[in-house]
Amino acid sequence: MTPARDTESLDQIKSRLRGSFLSQLPDRLHQARALLATLGPGTEDRDALQTLHRLFHTLKGSGASFGFTSIEAPAKAAEQALAQVLDGRLAVTEALLTRLHEQVDTLARLDLDPADASDTPHRPSFALPARRPGADRGGDRRERLIYLCDDDPDLIQQLAQQLACFGYQVRPFPTLAALHEAIRAQTPAAVIMDVTFPEGPFAGPEALDLLREDAGLAAPCVFISNRDDFAARLRAVRAAGAAYCPKPIKTVEIVEILDLITDRTPTEPFHVLIVDDDRDLAEYHAMVLESAGMVIRVATAPDQVLGLLGTFSADLVLMDLYMPDCSGPELARVLRQIPDYTSLPIIYVSSETNMDRQFEAMEVGVDGFLTKPIAAERLVTEVRLRAERMRMLHALMVRDSLTGLFNHNTILQFLEVAVASAKRVDRPLCFAMIDIDRFKQVNDTYGHATGDQVLMALSRTLKLRLRNNDLVGRYGGEEFAVILADAAIDEAHRIIETLRAGFAEVVFTSDDREFSCTFSAGLAGFPAFATAEALTEAADQALYRAKDGGRNRVVLARAEAGPIPDAAVLRETEAPNIP
Ligand code: GH3
Ligand code: MG
Ligand code: MG
Repeated sequence: MTPARDTESLDQIKSRLRGSFLSQLPDRLHQARALLATLGPGTEDRDALQTLHRLFHTLKGSGASFGFTSIEAPAKAAEQALAQVLDGRLAVTEALLTRLHEQVDTLARLDLDPADASDTPHRPSFALPARRPGADRGGDRRERLIYLCDDDPDLIQQLAQQLACFGYQVRPFPTLAALHEAIRAQTPAAVIMDVTFPEGPFAGPEALDLLREDAGLAAPCVFISNRDDFAARLRAVRAAGAAYCPKPIKTVEIVEILDLITDRTPTEPFHVLIVDDDRDLAEYHAMVLESAGMVIRVATAPDQVLGLLGTFSADLVLMDLYMPDCSGPELARVLRQIPDYTSLPIIYVSSETNMDRQFEAMEVGVDGFLTKPIAAERLVTEVRLRAERMRMLHALMVRDSLTGLFNHNTILQFLEVAVASAKRVDRPLCFAMIDIDRFKQVNDTYGHATGDQVLMALSRTLKLRLRNNDLVGRYGGEEFAVILADAAIDEAHRIIETLRAGFAEVVFTSDDREFSCTFSAGLAGFPAFATAEALTEAADQALYRAKDGGRNRVVLARAEAGPIPDAAVLRETEAPNIP
């Protein structure tokens, strides 16, 4: 926030903020006196009452947060009385007004010194987890050692090989004894474990229990199994299994899970938006979260929030409950009515301790309530947990709902990873874009539902006919993308060409009418195209040429510069019979 942030220690900043809070205190009390002076018995001036309530409420919360415990009691008494007035449970009498004046006087008489403020009660020391160095971040799976244990020797060889394509270092073990020995020598980042072994139907989970107890194994475990029944799943969960994958194993699914469970550090630091009209407190919370490696923006007025959210992709919003002009619940409602923010986690941070009011405020669909003063570690933990869960949900929302294929963004992300991996191991890779020909006509002639069936059929064909390691995504409406790992352009061409011919043979029926569909494809290869971006662009252009050339064909992308491998010379598959 301020440039001083880099050089000041946390304690220095906190004492600076305490100083700032204290210097503003006389002004705030003056404002309270002035407001009180405008009120008489029986007043109906809700605006003034609300402003006063907020004023005392803020004093209570900030006072406590900055460790000025003597502020808390008088501020709280005034705040509660005003809350009762606003709820219609208490009348504004001469006596009440006098009491409020006295509470302001009490607050004014307090002799507060920034140096002797006590720290928040539940926090004996101010130790935050250190900011993780940038080198820890990112998706390099190379150092991630995975132990794979299954009594099926073919399976472990094959799966180990496939996982290696995604950059994991996998050591296969055909017996539990071999695994046990290896774990005592070196701890892996994760274990993939079969459930049933010759030793018994649940020998896998049992062995894991033992490893956790004996060898102190803390690494997460993914269970794989021929069994898909409740008993087996339950036994796996009791052995603290992080995931359960029934066989046949889908490599990509395992990769997704491994990525999730072995990478504790988010690739991107969490982004948090703090909304609080109390500038000092907002800055204090910002500082605490920044010290834990998060990126923070502060809005001191609710009307700044939409603008900030537009440019700052927040993982989470920390929101004050009482603010001038617009309350926390109102702001939460505004956000919930915007499609992009319906699932954005919102946590209130407030000194409101009344459970009914907390509950009322939560009804808007927010995700949590933290009561001020909040200990620094607790704030960091609450925010991190929720932001992490949010990211995880996003990671699971990678599939297209109609076809079950990876969605557009996900397949592009996989392409980035696949290109990086191909570079590392110096192997080829191909990217294909596939687009159904004249699909609009299918919809127009046979209806949207039949169109959907064609999309699902093509998805199934792609999934079934492609090799295990290939990744298939739904790129757009009737566009698909395929990443052919470890395939040179010639081989990829053969594969896609076989698919094209096969798909053209499929006969669809709709209300007793038969028809068939074709697709066109554009294919680009690495290393001729060296980046994910170059590959997608080249494949797209090749696809365009396939359409232009009459459809129902596969066209290879031409490398603009550099040596063209002989296989990559433009070569089109002749369309046999276009309907
Ligand atoms: P071309 O051979 O040039 O690709 O012609 P086309 O008709 O296939 O291409 P165009 O892009 O003009 O039309 C694509 C159509 O795909 C339009 C859209 O209504 C339809 N479509 C997109 N998504 C879906 C879907 O999920 N289900 C169905 N049934 N149709 C879809
Ligand atoms: Mg089309
Ligand atoms: Mg299209």
